Amino acid sequence: MTKLPKKHLFDLPEGVIYLDGNSLGPLPKGAVERAVGTLTDEWGQQLIKAWNTAGWMALPQKVGDRIAGLIGAAPGSVATGDTLSIKVYQALAAALKMRPSRRVILSDTGNFPSDLYMAQGLISTIGKDYELRTVAPEEVAGAITEDVAVVMLTEVDYRSGRRHDMAEMTRLAHDKGAVMLWDLAHSAGAVPVDLTGSNAEFAVGCSYKYLNGGPGAPAFIYARPDIVLEVEPALSGWLGHDAPFAMEPGYRPAMTTERLRVGTPPIVQLSILDAALDVWDDVDMAELRAASVALCETFIAEVEQRCPMLTLASPREAAVRGSQVSFGFEDGYAVVQALIDRGVIGDFRAPNIMRFGFTPLYIDEGDVIRAAEILQEVMESGAWQDPKYQVRSRVT
Ligand SMILES: *Cc1c(COP(=O)(O)O)cnc(C)c1O
Repeated sequence: MTKLPKKHLFDLPEGVIYLDGNSLGPLPKGAVERAVGTLTDEWGQQLIKAWNTAGWMALPQKVGDRIAGLIGAAPGSVATGDTLSIKVYQALAAALKMRPSRRVILSDTGNFPSDLYMAQGLISTIGKDYELRTVAPEEVAGAITEDVAVVMLTEVDYRSGRRHDMAEMTRLAHDKGAVMLWDLAHSAGAVPVDLTGSNAEFAVGCSYKYLNGGPGAPAFIYARPDIVLEVEPALSGWLGHDAPFAMEPGYRPAMTTERLRVGTPPIVQLSILDAALDVWDDVDMAELRAASVALCETFIAEVEQRCPMLTLASPREAAVRGSQVSFGFEDGYAVVQALIDRGVIGDFRAPNIMRFGFTPLYIDEGDVIRAAEILQEVMESGAWQDPKYQVRSRVT
C-alpha cells in the first residue's frame, strides 16, 4: 500500500505547484499547532522550568535521532543545532586535527559556496600553510592524493542535481588515508542515504530543505561513533561540555556526539522540526526515491518535448541525479519569475540555471505535467520578456 503522496499534511497555498521544496520545504500542518504550544504553553506558562518540564533539554538529541533514522545513521550519532555553515566548519576543523601532517582540503567546484567559504575562513583562522583545493566534480576521484587531509563533498549538487557515489568516493578517500566529510543538504529526505554503510567519518546537513523544518531550522552533524572521542571541538561551547551545569572553568567535551553542540538550542525551531518529522514516520525511503525518479523523468520528457529552447542541465541518468531537475536558459531568471506569477514555484541559480525540486510527499504526476504545460506557455508566448520579470530580488 502506498503511503505517498501526503499532500493533505501540508499547508500549501491553493493553486500553487511548489517545486522549490529543495530550497525551503513547505509548512507541515502539524508544525503550526506545535509552534503555538511551544510558545504559549511551554514558554508562556512554564517559563524557564520548561527546560526540564517540557523536555527542551532533551529535544536536540531527540530530533537528532529522528534525522539519523532518515540518513542511515545509528541513534546517538547525530547532533543538531546552529546552521549548516557552522556544522561544516566544525566537521572540517575536527577532520584536519585527525590528520595533522596533511594540509589539503579537497572539494569540487560544484560545491555550495558557503561550504567553500567556511573552509577558507577556517584556513585563515588556523593560519598555517593549509590549502583548499577544488577540482571539477568528475575529477575528484583522481585528485585524492596522499597530501589530502579531508575530502569535503556535497552528495547532490545544488545547481545540477548531479550525485556523487558516496560509498565509492568514501572508499577512495580512505584508500589514500583521507577523512571523508559529506554534506547531505540535498540528500536528507530526498534520496536514501546509508551513512553507516558508507563508513564516512563526518556528515552535515540542513533541515529546512527536504525535511521541511522551516526557515532557519537547525542543522545536523554526524560523527562516526567509533571516532567521536577523537573529535576535538573547535567551537567548544558549554552545551558540548560533558557537564554543562557543573559550570567548570575548563572545557571538557561530552563523551558522545553531543560534543559537537555549541550553545543554547533554538527550541522554537526544534519543536517545529520535530513536528515536521512526524510526516516521515511511515515513509519508506526506497518508495519515496522511486516516486521521485518517476516525477523527474516525467518532467524531463515533458519539458524536452514542449520546450526545445531549454537545455537539460542535470544528468539524464536517474542513478546519478538527486531529487531535482535543472534546465539552462540565458534568461532563466525572468522565466522563473514568469512561472512564479503563474503559480509554478521553482528558483534560479546564477548564472543560468532554472531549478525544479521534486518532492513526492506533496507533488504528483498531474502537478508535473501542469508545470511543464505552464513552462511551455511562458516560453512560446515570450511572456518572460515582460520587463517586470527582469528585476532581480535579493533572493533568487
Ligand atoms: C543550503 C546549503 C547550505 C546553507 O547553509 P546554511 O548555513 O544553512 O545557510 C550550505 N551548504 C549546502 C551544500 C547547501 O545546500
